[in-house]
Amino acid sequence: MPGVDFDRIRADITMEHVLDLLTFEPVGCLGPQWYGPCPLHESTSERSRCFSVNVALGRYCCHRCHSHGNQLDLWAAATKLPLHRAAIDLCQRLGRDVPWLRRR
Ligand SMILES: [Zn+2]
Repeated sequence: MPGVDFDRIRADITMEHVLDLLTFEPVGCLGPQWYGPCPLHESTSERSRCFSVNVALGRYCCHRCHSHGNQLDLWAAATKLPLHRAAIDLCQRLGRDVPWLRRR
């Protein structure tokens, strides 16, 4: 399988797109910093604030399961796919063209 342009995916698909796919409902916001139950591990409470995400920076982290990274890492963690497969899956779910890297 050819490589994909991760930089282009990260530029085109925002953290908010991924949170939307994961039906993440923030329980609190502080500017671009959103808090809520973690979509990765089974948060016991819907009011949990263990998961924090900065939608401006496109970074997330969970204080419970210690998962962290950018929106692609989040999708890979949620789908349990390797990063390359997760990136392709994400483009397809959002109806985007996959930015394949063309070798010269
Ligand atoms: Zn977690």
